[in-house]
Amino acid sequence: MHHDVSGLAELRAEEITAWFGNHKVLDRVSLTMPAGGITALIGPSGCGKSTFLRILNRMHELVPSAQLAGQVLLDGEDIYDPDKRLIDARRSIGMVFQKPNPFPAMSIRENVLAGLKLTGTTASKSAKAALVEECLIKGGLWNEVKDRLDAPGGGLSGGQQQRLCIARSLAVKPRVLLMDEPCSALDPTSTRVIEETMLELAREVTIVIVTHNMQQAARVSDTCAFFLAAQGTPGVIVEHGDTKAMFSHPRDERTADYVHGRF
Ligand code: ADP
Ligand code: MG
Repeated sequence: MHHDVSGLAELRAEEITAWFGNHKVLDRVSLTMPAGGITALIGPSGCGKSTFLRILNRMHELVPSAQLAGQVLLDGEDIYDPDKRLIDARRSIGMVFQKPNPFPAMSIRENVLAGLKLTGTTASKSAKAALVEECLIKGGLWNEVKDRLDAPGGGLSGGQQQRLCIARSLAVKPRVLLMDEPCSALDPTSTRVIEETMLELAREVTIVIVTHNMQQAARVSDTCAFFLAAQGTPGVIVEHGDTKAMFSHPRDERTADYVHGRF
């Protein structure tokens, strides 16, 4: 597997505060997500993990009431710079959701290529064929679908659909891949296949994953951030750092309780 020409990128959130209307949901959250690593965001429901993830590629702008303070830096460049185009932020920083969402009636091939249309990228027929193969290999799906690229994406199993979504997100050559509970809807076998795919991908794409599965966080991530929103207060990061260190010697009692399933 070769490294992307664009190289590995660090993603940094600085002092992110977020509101939906008057409801403050994140309070001055700062986090460095190292280049070519896998960062896991953990914490109970409602503490702002998905909101934080969406802010990392400006997806939260789809919610009209969302307000934001702070900065997101991709290799030091502010993705919210008014001179930068939204489409560039989205192309650089891809997203995979909890529920696999391929275009069900579209062929496997067309699903992989779908992002090119959105970003206005043009490519020759042979370049497209090569891209489809490359993305499906990186998505860990090629061997299973190479003989039926014209079959509809909706005909695949749940785990295969999720890997198709990963392949689709890779077609526009993102530097970061955000994954919001990508395995929560999948069985344990499919989950392990996706984890292996992620570990391979992290050689060339920086990955940020939200997961409720502590074993998964421990298996795949290098860096971990524990989010918490105490009753009636916005979400904050209680503790972050090296995953192994955090799981074996949490500094905060609340982290210890959470990673050991005590709440
Ligand atoms: P998590 O992913 O950790 O479960 P979320 O980021 O989904 O948490 O939610 C954080 C808080 O923001 C919650 O109080 C939730 O109700 C609120 N919230 C999330 N999305 C919206 C939205 N589109 N509009 C209003 N409030 C929202
Ligand atoms: Mg969520």
